[in-house]
Amino acid sequence: MSSIAAELSAPSHVRPCIVGAFVDTLDPEDSAAVKGTLGRPRTAAKIWRVLSRRGMSASTSQVRIHARRDCNCTKAGHQYDAPKEDTAA
Ligand SMILES: [Zn+2]
Repeated sequence: MSSIAAELSAPSHVRPCIVGAFVDTLDPEDSAAVKGTLGRPRTAAKIWRVLSRRGMSASTSQVRIHARRDCNCTKAGHQYDAPKEDTAA
């Protein structure tokens, strides 16, 4: 899993925030969809609703902090953006 690779390559004392850690557990397709939506303004509440139904225990504030990239995920090596398609030119 890519999340294991990300954790192994990150400094051991820094962990992604609860939102980033949860997104990293999703299927690649779902993870990419969440990451693509997080970059847009005013989507935190919607993302929180969708992810909470799937078991995420973060609050809307934590989703907003993650969306603003004010969390630990930057230092932990979490990829905020969905991977780009190779076909995009
Ligand atoms: Zn985060």
